[in-house]
Amino acid sequence: MKYFDYTATTPVDSEVLETYIKVQNEYFANTTSLHSLGQKSNAFFEKAREEIKEILDLKSHELVFTSNATEANNLAIYGIAKKYPQGKLITTKIEHPSVYEVFKSLEKEGYEVIYLDVDEKGIIDLNQLARELNKDTILVSIMWVNNITGTIEPIKEVIRMIREYPKIKLHVDIVQGLAKVVPNFAFKDIDLLTVSAHKIYGLKGIGGLFYRSNIDLSKRLFGSSAQYKVKPGTLDLALVVSMCKAIKKFYPLTEKHYEYVKELNCYLRKQLESYQFIVINSPIEGSPYILNVSFPGINGETIVHTLEAKEIYVSTGSACSSKIKKPEKTIYSMTKSEILATTTIRISLSHLVTYADIDYLINAIGEIKNV
Ligand code: PMP
Repeated sequence: MKYFDYTATTPVDSEVLETYIKVQNEYFANTTSLHSLGQKSNAFFEKAREEIKEILDLKSHELVFTSNATEANNLAIYGIAKKYPQGKLITTKIEHPSVYEVFKSLEKEGYEVIYLDVDEKGIIDLNQLARELNKDTILVSIMWVNNITGTIEPIKEVIRMIREYPKIKLHVDIVQGLAKVVPNFAFKDIDLLTVSAHKIYGLKGIGGLFYRSNIDLSKRLFGSSAQYKVKPGTLDLALVVSMCKAIKKFYPLTEKHYEYVKELNCYLRKQLESYQFIVINSPIEGSPYILNVSFPGINGETIVHTLEAKEIYVSTGSACSSKIKKPEKTIYSMTKSEILATTTIRISLSHLVTYADIDYLINAIGEIKNV
């Protein structure tokens, strides 16, 4: 099997899985139970939470654990928007559906929402952002690394621009950047951040929302007082500790893995550039973990299944929307071409990919010309 869909999800790291099993066996008590086993679990939970905050230098932020990044994005955006029903909201045309669809729903409720345009590389229009920021704006939500093309958004500049408006909260979905790209900004300069464990060799079923301690999020879920009432309910301590393990193991390796994957990406890109029937959509300056290409004349789904016959796994775009046969929204926003946006596949890489894997993929793609 040749797996090139690491953006959709990653295999669980064996040490992370061991941690999960150990904690699940030994500390299964409810972290809110008063007895000593419960209290031990709770102490372990708080230790893991503090460790994660420390590693990411987010000590002055709260961290609530969610089921995934989708839930964290929803809690962040609704949590701010519902506090200020008249507020103006700004996002982009290329957000992940777990951000984009929340804004669409708020728009239906009557909120003013601005969707920033992107250029041919997928980079947001900072002049448009500057024009749209005003005293009514309450929330700006812009992803760091785009999950379809790997485009890296200018978060550093956005932080600087928003500083002039103390009322505005900045939310950044850092799911595809964390432990993959070295940021040129500090996480602590962002008000709300979303992460997901299964994108960094952790388990599925856990993500997190960091938010500045002075932010009082409007509640979406009602129940116990667990997790500041933002995400009530019984915690799976083993998932929390395993996520901590994944961050502890892979965050310090960001640069090392980046350098290797960058070389892999350059090698792959160079070979694919020689295929006349392919258009490369990902910008060269983007995250090397993602290479998005189009095959004008062949449906993206057909390519996925053709490669699958050779046990090569790639994606047509976001796994969450891959069953929907419509132009891929990020590719369309960048290229304005329906052809390119319906004939696209996403190849996503990892430090686990070898040059032999890439050669196998290159050969298989070469044969597609004749499909
Ligand atoms: N944001 C981005 C940028 C993503 O790539 C994904 C996963 N496709 C998500 C959010 C949603 O993550 P999860 O599966 O943890 O809900």
